[in-house]
Amino acid sequence: MLSTLRQIVEEIGHIPVLEEALQRVSELLKEAMRVDCCTIYLADTENQCFVLVATEGLAKEAIGVTRIGFSEGIIGWIGQREEPINIADAQSHPRFKHYPDVKEESYHAFLGTPIIHQRKVLGVISVQQKSRRRFAEEEESLLITLAAQMALEVANAEARGAVKLSGSDGIQLWQKALYGRPGSSGLAVGVGFQPNKKARLSDYIAARSQKVNQEISQYRRAVKRTKADIRKLTNQVAENVPKDVANIFQTYDFLLDAASLGKEVEEKIRAGWNAATSLKQVVGNYARQFSQMQDSYMQERAVDVVDLGDRVFGHLVNDKRRVAEIPAKAILVAEEITATMLAEIPAKKLKGIIAMRGSVNSHAAILARAMGIPAVLGVTELHVSHLAGKELLLDGYSGEITVAPEMQKRISFEALIKEEKELNKLVSAELEQEAVTLDGQHIGLFLNVGLSQELEEKFSADADGVGLYRTEIPFMSHDRFPGEEEQRVLYRSLLQKYHDRAVTMRTLDVGGDKPLPYFPFQEENPFLGWRGIRMTLDHPEIFLVQVRAMIKASAGLHNLQIMLPMITSVEEVKEAKRLIRQAFYEVREEANREGEEVHKPRVGVMLEVPSVLWQLEELASLVDFFSVGSNDLTQYLLAVDRNNPRVSELYQSYHPAVLRALNHIAQVSKRLDVPVTVCGELAAEPAGVMLLVAMGYNKLSINGYSMARVKWVIRRQSQEKMQAVLHKALLMSEASEIRDFLNMELEYLGLGGLVRAGK
Ligand code: PEP
Ligand code: MG
Repeated sequence: MLSTLRQIVEEIGHIPVLEEALQRVSELLKEAMRVDCCTIYLADTENQCFVLVATEGLAKEAIGVTRIGFSEGIIGWIGQREEPINIADAQSHPRFKHYPDVKEESYHAFLGTPIIHQRKVLGVISVQQKSRRRFAEEEESLLITLAAQMALEVANAEARGAVKLSGSDGIQLWQKALYGRPGSSGLAVGVGFQPNKKARLSDYIAARSQKVNQEISQYRRAVKRTKADIRKLTNQVAENVPKDVANIFQTYDFLLDAASLGKEVEEKIRAGWNAATSLKQVVGNYARQFSQMQDSYMQERAVDVVDLGDRVFGHLVNDKRRVAEIPAKAILVAEEITATMLAEIPAKKLKGIIAMRGSVNSHAAILARAMGIPAVLGVTELHVSHLAGKELLLDGYSGEITVAPEMQKRISFEALIKEEKELNKLVSAELEQEAVTLDGQHIGLFLNVGLSQELEEKFSADADGVGLYRTEIPFMSHDRFPGEEEQRVLYRSLLQKYHDRAVTMRTLDVGGDKPLPYFPFQEENPFLGWRGIRMTLDHPEIFLVQVRAMIKASAGLHNLQIMLPMITSVEEVKEAKRLIRQAFYEVREEANREGEEVHKPRVGVMLEVPSVLWQLEELASLVDFFSVGSNDLTQYLLAVDRNNPRVSELYQSYHPAVLRALNHIAQVSKRLDVPVTVCGELAAEPAGVMLLVAMGYNKLSINGYSMARVKWVIRRQSQEKMQAVLHKALLMSEASEIRDFLNMELEYLGLGGLVRAGK
């Protein structure tokens, strides 16, 4: 039975039009269960009814015509009860309602179950039989299992070009949203563009060849051409994105080097395979190894290897790559987005990015953010072809995608884009103003940096300093740990740029969802695993090199602050401080010899693990400042993986427990007189700003793009008013209630349009 189920679900995935896919399900299921009839209804919430969309056994003319009210008949009853119903004789059941169109008079036994996705009833699937009998338990569980597996496909219905219902009133289009993970914020409208299907190494049929020398020279020629292509792309990319981001292509170059892929390919050629087969075997091995690794970053590398293999193969088989017609407003859609795909589309045309796979760590996400292009990633279990060539609306704030929008929806989305632009323009006029409340309270606004110095530079003049430098980001775009001098140069340029303001550098915070490509490790539960300070304390050599580089970089400047991520206990702080002291004395000695002056950096901790909430006093006696990492604090307080789309609804930044924890930190820090900043995403949300400022946080660290709107919010309210809002919010017991209340307050301020993101 399991294989039948799998076959059915697979088939649904491959049929682009949902109604056809569902029809196929009813045929297959009728056969597999040996029943007389199988029928599927889908919910039409707008009209409060279930619509018959597929059947094998009832009258086909009823498809799209028969509509059963949400509270009518047995189908409506299943929807209401949200559970299966199994009856020996449906016709004599009190809830039975006769619908003449469907012609079900000859059926008696009935088994139906709801199709539920994320708590919403999307439809009902039923089987019927002429005899009078109760369906067996195994039959019931089979139907339930199938319904659960179908749910996602049904939820993604609109991605199939909208569900066509040929009803009495003609063809109706359903508009439902499709969701992925927000990868880069912003709104975009455009046409799905799937890069040309190229010659694929994986499709090549193996062949042997005895002409070793000829095969090797062909292979080398293909590699040479591929290298030239990559160089060209690198230059193209360099025009659109900052140099530090373009480093991604180094990985490609590295893989192409004779010492890595090449050596193995040539060995296979010598063993009697032709060049393409040898390449296929080696690429296949590497890709398999990468994709079997547990951490997401290394899995991403499998895509790079396959892409690279296809490129070399293209030259081997002399594939003349035709450039596909790129729409003027292109939304790049692909199973997995590679950096090269991005580079191939002119920046002017690229409006958005959608990837079926990928995570916040994928190079595509890093590039998208650096290029300021809205992106949605991880649109699970959907075929790219469903989006290619279709008009798409993409919301990079919420992760929502609308396929083939009806006119009305497109018009209102375009109005939103216009509104976003206007609001951005209006708000950005505030950028150069001081962040001061109506009653004169100054709020320090610091920058979160690390992605790209070039891009972040444009905001530097308007910030009070750097509140969070995520040092792991430059580490991630290398192919090995950067050396001390390399790090020093990098840190020096930042410290110098902000020579008159504080720069808070966070020590390496890898692990969790931020693995290093060259330092892979597998964990069952990475967010609860070897993250941040835990990893670096276990590797003092890595920690010391980094801290020494930071201190050296600060020579002659007094603006370095060092911040420790993922602190859970006092021991970790003591040990980290011991290492920082050791590094400082070493560096100072060297510096003194060279006549330079270094100052002991101020040291602070991130408050992002709930345990520290109850040790603030002890921590305060050890450090110079606190910084609240509200992203992780929320994740750990609520036990919700911040990257898992299945539970993303539960990741609630305005959960009462989160707000009370933040309030507690603000109060205790004030009592202990420890400077405290908030550097998580909450500090960049207008509603978050109101609450945090009211709690007493007078330093916020945010990304540059949010600077203007945060100033806008601060400058339009008094501390007193914000405190009144906070007071009310703290009395509420549900996140949604708090959220609605805050949104209303923001509407009053005229900021509704910028409050699209967040929960
Ligand atoms: C946080 O956890 O809130 C934070 C700022 O750090 P990161 O998002 O890098 O984990
Ligand atoms: Mg964090």
